[in-house]
Amino acid sequence: MALVSAKDMLNKARDGKYAVGQFNINNLEWTKAILLTAQELQSPVILGVSEGAGKYMCGYKTIVGMVKGMLEELNITVPVALHLDHGSYDGAKACINAGFSSIMFDGSHLPFDENLEKTTKLVNTCEVLGISLEAEVGAIGGEEDGVVGKGECADPDECKQIADLGVTMLAAGIGNIHGKYPENWEGLSFETLAAIKEKTGDMPLVLHGGTGIPADQIKKAISLGVAKINVNTECQLAFQEATRAYIEAGKDQQGKGFDPRKLLAPGFENIKATVKEKMELFGSVGTVSYTHLTHPTTSRV
Ligand SMILES: [Zn+2]
Repeated sequence: MALVSAKDMLNKARDGKYAVGQFNINNLEWTKAILLTAQELQSPVILGVSEGAGKYMCGYKTIVGMVKGMLEELNITVPVALHLDHGSYDGAKACINAGFSSIMFDGSHLPFDENLEKTTKLVNTCEVLGISLEAEVGAIGGEEDGVVGKGECADPDECKQIADLGVTMLAAGIGNIHGKYPENWEGLSFETLAAIKEKTGDMPLVLHGGTGIPADQIKKAISLGVAKINVNTECQLAFQEATRAYIEAGKDQQGKGFDPRKLLAPGFENIKATVKEKMELFGSVGTVSYTHLTHPTTSRV
C-alpha cells in the first residue's frame, strides 16, 4: 500500500474511541520494526521523523525512498503515514516536496499571530496535495511559573482558532512533557483536555510525550478525544536496554555475535515489543481488519 494521509485513520480512531500511535524512526531497523508490528497487529501507524532524525538519515528523500521500499518489499497493507514531527515552516515545505504524506508544523513557540498565519498557508498547500497537517498551540504557564511538575497547558480559545483553520489534527499541551517525566509530575490535566475538546469539536487531538504516562491516564485521554499519541523516548530506551544486555552478556564476542545483524537484533525485537504494547494500550490493534469486517453489516441497512 502507498503512503497515506493520516486524516482517515485519525477520524476513524476518534469515532472508534482509540488512538493511532506515532512512533518516531531513527534508522532502517526502527522503521522495519514498527512497520512489521503494525502489519502483524493489523493496526494503522504513523512514522514520525524529527528534523534532527531527518538529517541523521541523510535527508527526507532518503527516508521516503526507504519507507516506500519497505512498504512494498514487506507487503505492508495497513495504512501508513510518513509524518514530519515538530517541523519548522521550511522543514514542512521540504518534506512536502520530498513526498511525506503528513506534516506537523510546530509554530507553538512563535507569537500566536505568526503561528496562525504560517499554519494557514500550510493548510492550503496540504489540502491541495492531500497531505494531513498537524498544528500545535503554544503553552500557557508551565516553567515560567516555576512549576515544572505541571507540564504545559494550552489555551482552549487559541486551540479553537487554530482548529478552525482546517488542520487535520491538533497538538495542545495538557500537562504532558517530552522525554522522561519528572518525579513531581502532577499528571495530565483532564480539565484542560475537556475544555479544548469542547471548543474544537470533532478535531482529532494529539498527545505528545507519550512515554511514561500511566495507562489509566492514556485511556482517559483517549476517551476525551485524543486520537493520536506520540511515542519516541520509550522505543529508544527499549533499544538501549536490549543492546546493553547483549553486550554486557558478552554475546558480541561469541562466534559471529559482532555481525551487526546479530548485534542490533535484540534492540530491534525490543522495539517491536514496545510498539505492540503501545498499540494494545491505544486500542488500535485489529482496527484495520475490523473495518473490513464491518462492511457487510453496514451495507445491510
Ligand atoms: Zn512532540
